[in-house]
Amino acid sequence: MITTNNYDPAQICEKGHLINGFSVREPQHNKKFCDKCGAKVIAACNDCGAIIKGGYWTSKMPPILHNYKVPKFCDNCGKPYPWIDASVAGVKDLLNTINGISDKEKGEFIENLNNIIRENPNTENSSNKVKKFLSNAGKEIADGVKSLIVEIVAETAKRIIWKD
Ligand SMILES: [Zn+2]
Ligand SMILES: [Zn+2]
Repeated sequence: MITTNNYDPAQICEKGHLINGFSVREPQHNKKFCDKCGAKVIAACNDCGAIIKGGYWTSKMPPILHNYKVPKFCDNCGKPYPWIDASVAGVKDLLNTINGISDKEKGEFIENLNNIIRENPNTENSSNKVKKFLSNAGKEIADGVKSLIVEIVAETAKRIIWKD
């Protein structure tokens, strides 16, 4: 029986789909592979082995998983989770399909992308650059990039790029 207040490890697929927020408390919902995309499911950081925090439970209250957001970084070692790397790799692939942008421009875009995933002093500046890049890239590319990164960028970036 679970008696201590704690976080249950979350099962999340390597592409970022939440599989089970209570992998210990409700193991009947666990999966080995994602039923949405087929990716491997993990419940711990690949780098340091710390659990991915899922739902919070106490002995007195019902389990809580309100507004759960799939985390971006391991809170024990700070490394990005595999779904962040997968999204960035997807953006790189997409950029490689565009003719007429140089490797330098692609590199700069990825650098800006890293600045908007992690909230930092350059987030605002980089968000404006990403916005400008996307507005020049054409609708198809802009939509493709959006679908890959909209869930992983910082709130500031989301607001600047898609709401202003
Ligand atoms: Zn998945
Ligand atoms: Zn870690």
